[in-house]
Amino acid sequence: MELEDVDTITVLGAGTMGHGIAEVAALAGYTVNLRDIKEEFVQDGYDQIEWSLNKLAEKDRLSEEEAEEALDNVTAYVDLEEAMVESDVVIEAAPEDFDIKQDVYEELVEVAPEHTIFTSNTSSISITDLSELTDRPEQFCGMHFFNPPVRMELVEVIRGEHTSDETIELIEALAEDLDKTPVRVRKDDPGFIVNSILVPLMNEASWIVELGDASIAEVDSTTKYDMGLPMGAFELGDQVGNDITLHVLEYMHEVLGDAYEPSPQLVSKVENDELGKKTGKGFYDYEDGDGADIPTDAISEDVRDRLIALLANETGKLVEKEVAPPKDIDKAVKLGAAFPKGPAKLCDEAGLEKAIETLEALHEETGAARYEVSDGLRDAAEEGGFYGPSEDDGEIEFEAIRVEYPEEMVGQIVLDRPQALNTVSPAMLEEFDQAVDMLDDDDEVRAILVTGAGDRAFSAGADAMSMAGSANPIDAVELARNGQETWGKLEDASVPVVAGIDGFALGGGMELATCADLRIATERSEFGQPEFNLGLLPGWGGTQRLSNLIGESRAKQIIFSADRYDAEQMQEWGFVNHLTDKDDFEEDAVELAADLAAGPPLAMEYAKKAMHAGRDDIEAGLETEAFAFGHLIGTDDMMEGVTKLQSDEDPEFEGK
Ligand code: NAD
Repeated sequence: MELEDVDTITVLGAGTMGHGIAEVAALAGYTVNLRDIKEEFVQDGYDQIEWSLNKLAEKDRLSEEEAEEALDNVTAYVDLEEAMVESDVVIEAAPEDFDIKQDVYEELVEVAPEHTIFTSNTSSISITDLSELTDRPEQFCGMHFFNPPVRMELVEVIRGEHTSDETIELIEALAEDLDKTPVRVRKDDPGFIVNSILVPLMNEASWIVELGDASIAEVDSTTKYDMGLPMGAFELGDQVGNDITLHVLEYMHEVLGDAYEPSPQLVSKVENDELGKKTGKGFYDYEDGDGADIPTDAISEDVRDRLIALLANETGKLVEKEVAPPKDIDKAVKLGAAFPKGPAKLCDEAGLEKAIETLEALHEETGAARYEVSDGLRDAAEEGGFYGPSEDDGEIEFEAIRVEYPEEMVGQIVLDRPQALNTVSPAMLEEFDQAVDMLDDDDEVRAILVTGAGDRAFSAGADAMSMAGSANPIDAVELARNGQETWGKLEDASVPVVAGIDGFALGGGMELATCADLRIATERSEFGQPEFNLGLLPGWGGTQRLSNLIGESRAKQIIFSADRYDAEQMQEWGFVNHLTDKDDFEEDAVELAADLAAGPPLAMEYAKKAMHAGRDDIEAGLETEAFAFGHLIGTDDMMEGVTKLQSDEDPEFEGK
């Protein structure tokens, strides 16, 4: 079967995951049969899909017609046989219990058409074992979505022992067609990729506290504000649910051995029903306490070294078992757990030799199996890192941004942290600075376009998590200067700059857009400087540059109100130069940059300089203008312009 032959998808189970997966498939235009065992369960799932689609429409992420069409694609069933008529792919999202899943598959094989491919959304049960419950183990693989499926981009596509190439390729293609990013899990290993990294990390955090080596505050402060992970390890545990973590861990313990022995503290949390946010209490107290109130200044080097060593060891095991190569591990963990850097990269940078030393010392001290150094880690250390020795071949590697060349003479910087609404981390700032230098120095590039990845934001501002690490005033001054200078570099680029805005442009993101020469935005975009809501002020040039652009009174209104402003309003105020709709956005943004790139480069550069110089001092601006004029007279470009003036042809400027 080819992707084009897939029309109907049956989702079994309308619970947390099932209804979300059904919504994703319906949005992609598939006919979706949603099945649960009772009318009220399936109706509840259907109602949740309707609610979620309406929310998306309210937020202008969909038109009302698109939301209606998607809902029309979903039909609710209790009768399995009816739900399977003409079904091409099944996605099973029944409860995480082998016996229940066994019943599901026994019933399913009785009524499923022969060609139907079966997939399971299980988080921890062996795909091979599940496939063997059916009459088509080669037509079976894992399709592991993350919660909530509508928002999370990652789908782990898991190959069971019997899965055919055709099946795995088709399901990967399907995941892409559902607008997700598939990462292949090449071996059916407990925890697949993301949980194999996260669950042992949470367990180790718990062991550290259990053994009295550090407090919860120190562990979480270190994970969040030093390692830069999106949450503290305990905060994450409470978010996921301690019962879920323990469940996966126990399975890993059973199959993979003592390296995954759950910490007694984690076990007792579950026994006491302190499951995390969902029960109001876990490692933190969400009802009577302040929740996960993590100090920014309790960072511990020991904790960091130990957690990095653990991550390096687990990454090594996945590579050694050929579950996935380092780059796929990093991709999956970045998308599935919002890590700013994948574990392989993070550990390479911290040094694998050091990780091995840390593990060996802990192993000698405690004898615990989880500190036994994996062969995969030793091999990677010998080869100079999971990514091999870092080579300086002049090519800059970016993580938080991408640099592309969508048209001749146009260099595009894509802010590439869609899972975090393209918020600006210190790493992104640094890379952005390098990218502007690189493009501005490139003679082939005559215009820069800046956009945000994903479909929600240009950039929602500074990454508050990683910034909170600079809570001391001296660091914060440095951070503000750094942002001002980096964005300022874009403003000062010798080539024209376009900001292409689709979605949120807030805080530091709006300050970045302010530094472009022109702005094109989709109608659904929202702008604002929300810093006052945090008791801060715009710190990356917002108090200065916004007034230059739209006048002090409007700039004050935006900054003082901390409200959001829609694209139409911002166009009226002259901030947005062009409005476009979502479907034409990419094309229009590139076209605008390409039009500017075709202009006379020298005149462009001098005009920018003169206009900027005149902001504070009109005399200086006029002087710059006069000199520039003198410089441009008699250039090849001027002759080209004058010659083509009389003809129908467009001038071809060369910057000479
Ligand atoms: P859930 O309990 O919310 O939903 C399960 C649904 O399946 C329920 O509505 C139940 O009535 C229904 N069901 C039971 N027997 C059925 C049958 N024979 N046919 C059809 N439906 C049946 O569970 P969930 O959280 O949605 O998890 C579903 C699967 O997804 C599990 O395998 C879980 O491990 C996996 N998963 C969960 C998450 C998560 O964060 N919740 C994330 C990734 C994967």
